Amino acid sequence: MNLKFDTLAVHAGAEPDVATGAVAPPIHLSTTFVHNPQGGQPGAFSYQRDDNPTQQRLESALAALEGGTCALAYASGMAAIAAVLDHLQRGERVVLPQDCYVGLRAFASEVLPGRGVEVVAIDTTDLDAVRSACTQGLALLWVESPSNPCLRVSDIAELARIAHAHGALCVCDNTFATPVLQRPLQLGADIVMHSTTKYFGGHSDVLGGALVFARDDARHAAIRQRRLLSGAILSPFSAWLTLRGCRSLPARMALHCANARQLATALAATPAVARVHYPGLAEHPGHALAERQMRDFGAMLSIELQGGYDAAANAVRKVRVFTNATSLGGCESLIEHRAAAEGEHSQSPPGLLRLSVGLEDAGDLIADLQQALAGA
Ligand code: PLP
Repeated sequence: MNLKFDTLAVHAGAEPDVATGAVAPPIHLSTTFVHNPQGGQPGAFSYQRDDNPTQQRLESALAALEGGTCALAYASGMAAIAAVLDHLQRGERVVLPQDCYVGLRAFASEVLPGRGVEVVAIDTTDLDAVRSACTQGLALLWVESPSNPCLRVSDIAELARIAHAHGALCVCDNTFATPVLQRPLQLGADIVMHSTTKYFGGHSDVLGGALVFARDDARHAAIRQRRLLSGAILSPFSAWLTLRGCRSLPARMALHCANARQLATALAATPAVARVHYPGLAEHPGHALAERQMRDFGAMLSIELQGGYDAAANAVRKVRVFTNATSLGGCESLIEHRAAAEGEHSQSPPGLLRLSVGLEDAGDLIADLQQALAGA
């Protein structure tokens, strides 16, 4: 049966337990599994770091939701990022977005040059700039759309075509959109990366990451083998919590998106706000593209205040419903002054506040920001 996305989200990897009939997926915490006298295993498992039943359930759900053939779960989103970047070889080139998750940028600038990998950061919304940066030696084009923290929208299908014309891989961080809103593998990307810490977990209580692969090929096998050797595995309990999050993901995303739309519209009419970065607003430069490649516009947005750094610092002190904290994708709304959080080397605009819009009442969220921004 060709199941629709919302049905898959509830059922993929969450089949009733054959051994007990339990309807809710069980957690298997065992680190080791029985050998038979010949040395093989009667079951499919040997040792938790290699593979385990709870992780396998999560990986099959992630692959089904992203429309991939297989997936690998990791201890964090950064472990998943590192798993891809660790495979770059001396002399190869990687092209990254200028606006991207700060940890990706740090890994690329602190680790890769020492390994002889050339790193080029460009505006991936500018396809001509991408074409000029994608020269000989290109091994990987990294896409993050919408991007963190400025919500830039890049053309995933076109970027995948450019990467493939050079025989390179196109990897897309789909953390902000989730497969509910955007399916990069269908647009031509080779690997989708997630911080499952965010919307998949959905409750700000479980760290995790994932790679979902378009093809079960030698690259997938090599990255899988490296995970076994590096031990960057997700714990079964974290896998279980994340699988639980998958099941309500479409329902949560619908409310997240509806709240964000209302908030973005209200903020666009607030005098203290100089700019709202939200792809759902018609005036956003990536709006038409987002309409084409996304099902909805997500629940992350950022605003730049007329009053700059001091106004932003003041606003995060005054919020009452929003919580001043990093991260995103939980039930509760979060606000973060990126320049303050990132410190002196921050590349974020000084007066930028990043919002993760949660599941509270939209009117309460709007009222909270309006009181926090009054006089800013
Ligand atoms: N990608 C994006 C877009 C993120 O926002 C984050 C974390 O905030 C990561 C990757 C890294 O994920 P983690 O914190 O799970 O290591």
